[in-house]
Amino acid sequence: MDNVAALKNLPLSNARVFVRVDFNCPLDATHSITDDSRIVASLPTIEYLIKNNAKVILASHLGRPKGKSIDCSLAPCAKRLSELLGKPVVLADDSIGAGVEKLAADMKPGDVILLENLRFYPAEEKPELDPSFAKNLAKLADFYVNDAFGTAHRAHSSTAVIAQYFSGKAAAGFLLEKEINFLGTATATPKRPFFAIIGGAKISTKIGVLKALSKKVDALMIGGGMAYTFLKAKGISIGDSIVEDSMIDTAKEILNSGVKIYLPLDIVAATEFNNDSPYKTFSTIEGIEPGYQGMDIGPATVAAWVTALQEAKTVLWNGPVGVFEMPNFAKGTLAIANTLATLKDAITIVGGGDSVAAIQEAGLADKFSHVSTGGGASLEYVEFGTLPGIEALKNK
Ligand code: AMP
Repeated sequence: MDNVAALKNLPLSNARVFVRVDFNCPLDATHSITDDSRIVASLPTIEYLIKNNAKVILASHLGRPKGKSIDCSLAPCAKRLSELLGKPVVLADDSIGAGVEKLAADMKPGDVILLENLRFYPAEEKPELDPSFAKNLAKLADFYVNDAFGTAHRAHSSTAVIAQYFSGKAAAGFLLEKEINFLGTATATPKRPFFAIIGGAKISTKIGVLKALSKKVDALMIGGGMAYTFLKAKGISIGDSIVEDSMIDTAKEILNSGVKIYLPLDIVAATEFNNDSPYKTFSTIEGIEPGYQGMDIGPATVAAWVTALQEAKTVLWNGPVGVFEMPNFAKGTLAIANTLATLKDAITIVGGGDSVAAIQEAGLADKFSHVSTGGGASLEYVEFGTLPGIEALKNK
């Protein structure tokens, strides 16, 4: 696994294991968790550690606290995790210090504690402010496990700096291991043909990944709001569609990179940016009329892309190909989701963000080889081929 040690190789019995998890769950106004999927996703690692008689010390951030604040306490996560595990989870009142060290020292095999929000300390996000923060976290445990893919693109105290104190004693958790196997290995040495489908609102947020993919894939399908900048770069009228004029040259560069590029052949365009506005389909040969803005790929595009995708052996998808939040303009995104869900013998990877929301709404998430748990992290991983949190574990 890319020179990263596997959790299964660590001698865990009776050992204290510091596990960086991502419990950054959305909360409502009463501090109740509205979506616990990040906690659920970390259960395989936690349950494995408990079963192997480890003493489990969990650490996470939650929200963006400015100093200590009750709004960002991990208490709701400790409660939910305890319900899911069916055993007590002790919430420490801090993440470092004598009190927490005593709590960790008194643990018994199978015990679980959750440290309080790491970001109560500014040194979590800015290790250079206080290098002793990572060292003090490291004091709590014998082994270090990183299972927080969502923050693996950050070189924070608990995601990267801490690993230096665990030479030969650091490993990826099961969630991170799966991300490495799919987003890392499967896209670096893909089964071909390798297709990428990239959508979403803007080119500017995905420029790095688009350029990196144009060197790796056999074909790049471009949909969503960003497609209009590409269509404009080709001299096609785009009506009132969303466009980034400053990205036209970049779009031309990608179009001329030599990779096979699929752009929309037709567009469903509406008079207003809302579900109930009148809409019609324009072919991109004729172009979109002024007064209309592109909202989704049209039926001819769907048919062409679905046919082309049948031969794919690896597919990476990031970003909806239309305004999928509006049912009238979700058809293209749902057609892509359904097609990928039924591809035979292909590795299908959905790389975080809104495309994950789309396949979850369609009830198709379990039909994909891998659904990434990181938005920004998954894009950066595909772009750079590694991440600070993964590098920190290498050869350790
Ligand atoms: P991103 O976070 O960059 O993946 O962008 C996702 C957003 O892109 C979603 O909220 C979509 O509604 C939006 N999007 C997709 N297609 C279009 C479009 N044709 N015009 C405007 N926004 C779009």
